Amino acid sequence: MVCLPLHKLGKILETHVKSQQTAEIKYGWKVAEIGEDVEKDKAWVKVEKADGSTEVREADYVVGCDGANSIIRRKLFGDWVYPGYTWDRQIVATNIYYDGFKDVDYDDSQFFVHPEHWHMVAKIQPDGLYRVTYGEVGGLTYDELKERQPAKFQAILPGNPTPDKYNLVNFSPYKVHQRCVDKMRVGRFLLAADAAHLCNPFGGMGLTGGIADVGSLYDSLRGIHNSQADDSILDKYDEVRRKIWHDVIDPISTQNMQRLFQYANADEFVETDPFYKTIKTMQNPDMKLGKGGPPNASIICR
Ligand SMILES: Cc1cc2nc3c(=O)[nH]c(=O)nc-3n(C[C@H](O)[C@H](O)[C@H](O)COP(=O)(O)OP(=O)(O)OC[C@H]3O[C@@H](n4cnc5c(N)ncnc54)[C@H](O)[C@@H]3O)c2cc1C
Repeated sequence: MVCLPLHKLGKILETHVKSQQTAEIKYGWKVAEIGEDVEKDKAWVKVEKADGSTEVREADYVVGCDGANSIIRRKLFGDWVYPGYTWDRQIVATNIYYDGFKDVDYDDSQFFVHPEHWHMVAKIQPDGLYRVTYGEVGGLTYDELKERQPAKFQAILPGNPTPDKYNLVNFSPYKVHQRCVDKMRVGRFLLAADAAHLCNPFGGMGLTGGIADVGSLYDSLRGIHNSQADDSILDKYDEVRRKIWHDVIDPISTQNMQRLFQYANADEFVETDPFYKTIKTMQNPDMKLGKGGPPNASIICR
């Protein structure tokens, strides 16, 4: 398994985009207004630039892939219209160096099932940097979360360390959502990735779901450009990608997160959870692909 933090993945994607002769990246250009020119059959965006000037750009189609707070989505549907819900629990993503991990037999990544101290530990750099993402109750401020962090680490990390025993290099609380727009196409505007749908991060289906959107959208726009398809293929894009979110991404990511805290004790989890039973079956040496080597992910109940 390869784990790449977003800023490293971003650099790789940037290199590929820059190698395309027809693509241009404009940093510091912020979309502020959008509209359609029906007579010219064009969509337009008004951007505010870093130097304070503005400019209007038009195109046959505009794709809003401007993240969870998408201005394109808000202009199309309204500021507070994003169907779905926010979980009543939140997560805190941290990066730490901690020697205590050397004393335990952890795999590259593991998920800890616990009604209160559910969390995930993954090694993310060869130099020993670990990502520890843990669950918290909802409704806490940044300062309250920060104050609770040492006790959380003492409860969840091997060796129950105090802050002098580890180096906390990143601390990022996140609210977690399950949301999807009612339309990913409105006229000449299209939405993709977090601008169109959100899920909790357990299972890694957020960024990957967005990449799959863009693959389908690329095929659709290319088909229109080459006269192999008419504009109605964009409605198909909307239909198919939303169906996949509702049928696959939402239920699986929801189960992934619920599984971490829904069981009151380890015995209940081991006896009841179908996903855990599947993993146990896969750990059977006869089921493994290739020879030897332990599986590289674990579920641990405490
Ligand atoms: C803690 C955490 C862990 C995660 N882990 C995973 C994981 O393991 N695997 C996975 O697949 N996903 C994961 N995700 C989800 C993943 O990070 C997102 O799904 C993904 O980054 C969404 O990409 P995006 O391009 O849609 O939006 P973003 O990455 O948010 O990019 C949006 C871009 O639009 C720009 N923008 C915003 N507004 C404007 C504007 N008005 N004008 C111009 N530009 C604008 C922003 O500057 C930004 O560059 C995780 C998320 C969180 C919070």
